[in-house]
Amino acid sequence: MNKQMKKMVRLVEIKTDETFIIDMMYAGTENMMQTAVYQEVGLGNRCFVHPDLAQCLKKLQPLLQERGLKLKICDAYRPVQAFYRMKEIIPMQGFFAATAECSQHCHASAIDAVLTDSDGCELKFPCRVDAYDPKYAQQIRQGQWDEFRHHLEKAKYSWNEGENSESIKNRTIFRELMEQAGFEALEHEWWHFNLPHKENYPLIDCECTKGNEIKFFVEGNT
Ligand SMILES: [Zn+2]
Repeated sequence: MNKQMKKMVRLVEIKTDETFIIDMMYAGTENMMQTAVYQEVGLGNRCFVHPDLAQCLKKLQPLLQERGLKLKICDAYRPVQAFYRMKEIIPMQGFFAATAECSQHCHASAIDAVLTDSDGCELKFPCRVDAYDPKYAQQIRQGQWDEFRHHLEKAKYSWNEGENSESIKNRTIFRELMEQAGFEALEHEWWHFNLPHKENYPLIDCECTKGNEIKFFVEGNT
């Protein structure tokens, strides 16, 4: 790619503080790929978001604090090279977006997250973020998708088994808080929230250099 065609952009890094816990699931091996893809591409356990998304998190902060809750962020900006590496590991159709262009994470306009209590313990939800379960991760590596596909139903808002259960209540509270802060929910993944008007957020490429510096780019118009 021609470097002159790229325009540098600024993303905001969100760090662990009294309200947010940064625990990027692809920076470790506790994820459906059981591979630390974000380490491979040089991002590590770092959470970068579009400045507009950082604004929504700012709005969210007092809403969480009032309730003694925290937000554990498990994914945010996803480097394009990480996206394609992930698709290579799990080629199952529909597991990841079709292209990086289709994934809001690659535009820095989405986060995957879960509510925790003040001690950082995850509240109960119908399944874990990304529907992660080591048992299914193992099966997927062996090319068996069926049980996981069934389990993935729990990711959807339409999954309502035991309607009054704690996990359904938490899911409702979570969505309400996120929407109040300006996020948009995704019907088939309770943990995923993105900014509205995705047409405003171009695909972002990055260059992870040694020494912890990460540069972000969009394609220029010239
Ligand atoms: Zn997501």
